[in-house]
Amino acid sequence: MEELNGLLTKLKMDHLEAQMDTLCEQAAQRELDYQSFLVEALRAEWQGRSQRGIEARLRLARFPWVKTLEQFDFDFQPSLDHRQVRELAGMSFVERAHNVVVLGPPGVGKTHLAVALGVKAVEAGHSVLFHTLETLMTRLTRAQRENRLEVTLKQLTYPRLLILDELGYLPLSQTEASLFFRLVVRRYERGSLIVTSNKSFLDWGEVFNDHVLATAILDRLLHHSTTLNIKGESYRLKEKRRAGLLGRAKPAEQARPDGREDTDPAGPDGRDGRDVMELVEGLDDAQT
Ligand code: ADP
Ligand code: MG
Repeated sequence: MEELNGLLTKLKMDHLEAQMDTLCEQAAQRELDYQSFLVEALRAEWQGRSQRGIEARLRLARFPWVKTLEQFDFDFQPSLDHRQVRELAGMSFVERAHNVVVLGPPGVGKTHLAVALGVKAVEAGHSVLFHTLETLMTRLTRAQRENRLEVTLKQLTYPRLLILDELGYLPLSQTEASLFFRLVVRRYERGSLIVTSNKSFLDWGEVFNDHVLATAILDRLLHHSTTLNIKGESYRLKEKRRAGLLGRAKPAEQARPDGREDTDPAGPDGRDGRDVMELVEGLDDAQT
């Protein structure tokens, strides 16, 4: 009907306009009353819009790749509390501007979990932005050099969830560390952060080249937060092993060669066989 289409165009109800014929046919078949038909029609428009919103927010989030929680094999990582992750997936941490820190050695799924929680946030209607520490630092230092740090800090405070991946691989200069601190201060109790790191909290002093600053950062980051400490073995390594490229798996609880206990409860126990890990990481990264 021409008038109907005109009205739907004016009201910008493109999804309903596209589905109108089908909806009318179905309504006739199912003998829907007026009210039920209206519900069906408005729902079609609403679903189309929210799907479009999800797609737009997914693009804006700039994830390196998209993986979901459903794709995560929790049986492979017994040190990870499945319930805790499910709780986080409920997104109340984002609504309360709380933070999540994911610690663990390479390949255990830190980025996967961070992205998967980011996808849940997008689906729940939140704005999300993903940065590696490296791209974040490039962006912040460039902004500072070009005298527009304030604008950039505002842009980085806007997303409800900011994911900062790979803290600890590269040590930060004094300038970078203080820029990071400013960002954390800006977002504190305003917006959530997910930070992933291969370094235990005890080593963050070295990462930031400044123990006082590291303490100030941790103080704000951890005030309202959940830490997921993954202690298992690399998932990438498992796949290599299965393909017969490596020897047998080392038992996870194997004592450290220097006979010391791991004293840091939040310390990723990735020291054993780190050299092998790095080798395989390099191999794997070259392939993917
Ligand atoms: P990390 O960031 O800790 O180095 P990633 O998240 O990049 O590790 O994981 C490495 C690869 O292994 C990714 O392709 C990821 O999807 C996959 N992966 C890791 N852990 C799991 C898991 N428990 N279940 C399914 N896939 C996993
Ligand atoms: Mg990673």
